[in-house]
Amino acid sequence: MINLILFGPPGSGKGTQAAKLVEKYGLLHISTGDLFRYEIGNKTPLGLEAKSYIDKGALVPDEVTIGMLRNKVEANPDVQGYIFDGFPRTTPQSEALDKLLAEKEDTVSRLVMLSVPDEEIVKRLLLRGETSGRADDKNESVIRNRIQVYKDNTTPVYDYYDAKSKATSIDGIGGIEEIFERLATVIDTL
Ligand code: ADP
Repeated sequence: MINLILFGPPGSGKGTQAAKLVEKYGLLHISTGDLFRYEIGNKTPLGLEAKSYIDKGALVPDEVTIGMLRNKVEANPDVQGYIFDGFPRTTPQSEALDKLLAEKEDTVSRLVMLSVPDEEIVKRLLLRGETSGRADDKNESVIRNRIQVYKDNTTPVYDYYDAKSKATSIDGIGGIEEIFERLATVIDTL
């Protein structure tokens, strides 16, 4: 099993790269952002709750997010591995993921961070907002809030896996293929 955490700030290209990784390595892509948007689209109670946080650029509470992630993993046991995209985003989520994988006698193989500077992120997200239909990409103050939340709550996740010698940072600036090559180089060592 390869259990990869694709890490990085909002707009760092995780979704784009995940799609290419699925093709090359046959892993199951689990994006908590996509799962929330699916629930929101279906107007489920979970979706309605998540929307109130997402629209502000805040994180959805850990217990909600962890429960949803656990359901998705447990519904798909027979895979070659997982790409976790947008999860874990807090230290308690990291601990929950480790516990969930340990129950399957498995573990996180590696966290790879796509490193992209703030101003590039704001530019990319505003551009994405023109076509993505995502309300959280349209408003610069919501985008800046997401970046701040990333710095405050999410960067500790990097340190958590770095302390286990499982974290790698790669340059997230460049062409899609170029960045994919950098990622593949890391994954091919696993
Ligand atoms: P981006 O990669 O642009 O940050 P995502 O699609 O990953 O966007 O997530 C969109 C929003 O969904 C986040 O801003 C947050 O409100 C919520 N969300 C996604 N994943 C998590 C998570 N692991 N914990 C809490 N909230 C989350």
